[in-house]
Amino acid sequence: MKLFRFRGGIHPEGHKLATTAKPIAVMPMPKYLYVPLQQHIGAPAESEVKIGDQVAKGQLLAHSQGMVSAPVHAPTSGIVNNISEMTAPHPSGLSVRMITLETNSEDQWLNSITSTDPLRLTAEEVAAHVGAAGIVGMGGATFPSAVKLKLSLRHKIKQLIINGGECEPYLTCDDRLMQERSDQVVDGVRIILRAVQAEKALIAIENNKPEAIAAMQKSCGHYADITVVSVPARYPMGSEKHLIQTVTGLEVPAGGLGADIGVLVHNVGTAYAIHQAIRHGRPLVSRVVTVGGGAIQEPQNVEVPIGASLRDVIEFCGGLKETPARLLMGGPMMGQVMPSMQVPVVKGTSGIIALSEQEVSHQAATPCIRCGSCVDACPCGLLPLTMAAHIRSNKLEGAVDFGLIDCVACGCCSYVCPAHIPLVQYFNYAKGELAARQQRKHKTEETRKLAELRQQRIAKEKEAKRLAAEKRRTEKAKRETATQHDDD
Ligand code: SF4
Ligand code: SF4
Repeated sequence: MKLFRFRGGIHPEGHKLATTAKPIAVMPMPKYLYVPLQQHIGAPAESEVKIGDQVAKGQLLAHSQGMVSAPVHAPTSGIVNNISEMTAPHPSGLSVRMITLETNSEDQWLNSITSTDPLRLTAEEVAAHVGAAGIVGMGGATFPSAVKLKLSLRHKIKQLIINGGECEPYLTCDDRLMQERSDQVVDGVRIILRAVQAEKALIAIENNKPEAIAAMQKSCGHYADITVVSVPARYPMGSEKHLIQTVTGLEVPAGGLGADIGVLVHNVGTAYAIHQAIRHGRPLVSRVVTVGGGAIQEPQNVEVPIGASLRDVIEFCGGLKETPARLLMGGPMMGQVMPSMQVPVVKGTSGIIALSEQEVSHQAATPCIRCGSCVDACPCGLLPLTMAAHIRSNKLEGAVDFGLIDCVACGCCSYVCPAHIPLVQYFNYAKGELAARQQRKHKTEETRKLAELRQQRIAKEKEAKRLAAEKRRTEKAKRETATQHDDD
């Protein structure tokens, strides 16, 4: 099959050997789980339970709200111990609402859980089941999968791409999932194909995962509409836009989606979760997480209940060899630095990476030497040095004019910069600041509209009162005139 090359990209050290050959371990249930109500892009879910409630595994803990949202389910059976604001698994260290579940040892599934034959479901029904199961993009994007499926019904999707790229260093959770559970992943791919009514599916896997490629080829051998494609191992191959370009030669327009050009991408972990939801009626309550980095005693892939603290997961992996120089959720290129080990694993957690002192560069940034390496490495064709210069001078709109919104935050520019300028951090900061400004603007606009509506309502009431008084006066005058006539 003909493949296409995207511009830029890098070949970072993989660091995958420590985990790729070991089977997925299943973690015993911790005493407490901390389940955030927002683990997805969109509105937070709204709690359905109260402190003291007994819940079964898979029971709805919080329902979705609004068009873009996802429900949250109990990862095991137990009792609701607390519902409060707790530290979010986010570098900001801000808090989010979480349900604390004190687990019992029964791990008892909800009785009403039933499987469904996907071949009897319409495309809309598949999307509804996926939505009810709380499935979100498992590659880390966390966009609600049902919304993505419904969107694709509006666009004519010709081709489905299943993302088995996993180009981030250290991460091997998708690799192990494909090696060990390929039949289930392929079944999930068939269900998605049916839901989006595409003609064919391509499962794209980087060529540094030969065992996963072999397992997936074996599992989809019977299906003429599903093909496994081996793509070059080059970061950021797992980025949706770059994977689409590699396998189709098509470029997603700036600010657009794959669906705009008839292509839909789902992650292999999402396909597996969809299989679990439709075939077994199981909502998303656990996921495979790579636990790695030089500070971890026994790096491996672990099936972790959603809500387990990073501390509990790390302890299951033998604990720490040393205090991590950096604790990340996700890989070292696009992952986020965690504020503490107490934060929980969420649906989008692909990795818990505890880097040792040796693995972290502490070199201070020096002035830009205008070498252009960042421009050559950028897979989105941007000018990182120019965008960074604008951001440094607080001219965020200037950075937007140079394509800030198209930056996929892959970190290739920072990786190659000989001056060690943390370019991607500038871009993440600027995007966050622009989003906050947009929110503030939206709020001010909303307040102004509310004030206007209030003024209009007051004026209307005043006018109604005036008209009523006038009417009363006219009627009174009429009555007085009539009485006078009677007297005459
Ligand atoms: S790679 Fe670094 S030093 Fe080179 S042009 Fe870009 S920002 Fe400047
Ligand atoms: S982080 Fe943004 S600017 Fe830097 S290489 Fe990636 S896409 Fe380009």
